[in-house]
Amino acid sequence: MQEPTITVYGAPWCPDCKRSKQFLGEHQIPYKWVDIEKDKAGEQFVIRTNKGKRIIPTISFADGSFLVEPSNAELAAKLKLKTTARRSHYDFIVLGGGPAGLTAALYAGREAIDTLLIERAAFGGQAAATERIENIPGFPDGIAGIEFSQRLRQQAERWGVELLEAQEVIGLYSHNNYHCIRTSEGQEYSARSVLITTGGRYKRLNILGEEDYLGAGIHFCAACDGPFYKNKRVAVVGGGNSAAEESLFLANYVDHVTILVRGSHFKASQIIQDNVFANPKIDVRWNIDVQEFLGEHSSLKKLRLRNNQTGEEEIMEVEGAFIFVGLTPNSRFLEGSAILLNQWGFVITGHDLLHNGKRRAGYENRDPYLLECSAPGVFAAGDVRNSSTKQVASAAGEGASAALMIRSYLKQV
Ligand SMILES: Cc1cc2nc3c(=O)[nH]c(=O)nc-3n(C[C@H](O)[C@H](O)[C@H](O)COP(=O)(O)OP(=O)(O)OC[C@H]3O[C@@H](n4cnc5c(N)ncnc54)[C@H](O)[C@@H]3O)c2cc1C
Repeated sequence: MQEPTITVYGAPWCPDCKRSKQFLGEHQIPYKWVDIEKDKAGEQFVIRTNKGKRIIPTISFADGSFLVEPSNAELAAKLKLKTTARRSHYDFIVLGGGPAGLTAALYAGREAIDTLLIERAAFGGQAAATERIENIPGFPDGIAGIEFSQRLRQQAERWGVELLEAQEVIGLYSHNNYHCIRTSEGQEYSARSVLITTGGRYKRLNILGEEDYLGAGIHFCAACDGPFYKNKRVAVVGGGNSAAEESLFLANYVDHVTILVRGSHFKASQIIQDNVFANPKIDVRWNIDVQEFLGEHSSLKKLRLRNNQTGEEEIMEVEGAFIFVGLTPNSRFLEGSAILLNQWGFVITGHDLLHNGKRRAGYENRDPYLLECSAPGVFAAGDVRNSSTKQVASAAGEGASAALMIRSYLKQV
């Protein structure tokens, strides 16, 4: 692996240092971190660079230049990220550059639809953060998440799609047949059709060791990572439908599943609970808080558990742990807009928009397309969409379907 050419000089307590490190991390740009409270040479460099002042973060680059306390916009400009679009109006704007968004964009590009895609971090979304994806059709040996994401990006660019990065969408407003997007940098773009593919983020437990063993024993997807645990013992954390359903799925591969539930009962539907209790490979422990993930040689080995009724603590040996405590959709920017969300914030589309058989405003003369939202002309695909299946292949499939629906929609307006 190549040595990083960017060095961030700072201190652990400094919020701007954290922000800059997060920005580089989200854009998958390698950097070296120097804590100037522990590294005398690093501290001297900062003082020398800032003419006697100890200002952090100070960030040095391969060309010998440096930035002091840069904003995210200054960092994006320095790293030559494309953050401003060529025009302010497009036929079609895609929000989010994960598998759903990039697939929709490349389909639209192939249809010669004038398309802009806006991504707040690095292209590829959750797929880019996945070490290896083993269940994408056409890749019998699997593919690294990063490589898959780069290929999707190249494919979208090949068809002439304009891609913006480091641009967070913070608002969506519709006027008649036009939809306007606002970014956190204050840019505004409009389009005749918009696709929301902003995905989501698996909820974490935020406990000790979780960050250290992500992908190295800790997982969020049974269909993706369950097969690696053939004949092994795993724990599942959670007490809802996902935890129970995914445990049943895991039981097809593993030797044993222990479900760790924080409360004293499941929130899963009765039929799923019955199947769990009837499965000899699964046992359930109630009133258990997972306190810490413990491992050796960079892989998870044990969980520290606490019974939240008795206070008793114990160590449980596991070979893998799957966390199913929910997925938070990236849809906050839609709150207060004309886009209808369900109680958890997922975007409602298609037939689900009909309420008690009644059509919503804008759909008096036609049904919504299957992936169309409550505002006609705005569509949603992938993990952010209500009742989507949270997989790379299905997100890409929904992106492709949405682009073709949008092609038909654009012919009518
Ligand atoms: C650790 C992990 C491992 C996984 N492994 C597998 C696997 O092996 N196989 C599999 O099929 N699935 C796997 N998944 C699930 C899979 O990655 C997702 O289902 C898929 O990426 C969803 O694609 P998407 O495009 O809908 O959303 P995402 O991948 O979430 O992409 C959404 C994009 O939108 C961007 N965005 C969000 N908000 C904004 C905003 N306001 N403005 C601009 N951009 C925004 C995000 O930065 C992101 O790039 C895994 C997920 C995780 C977290």
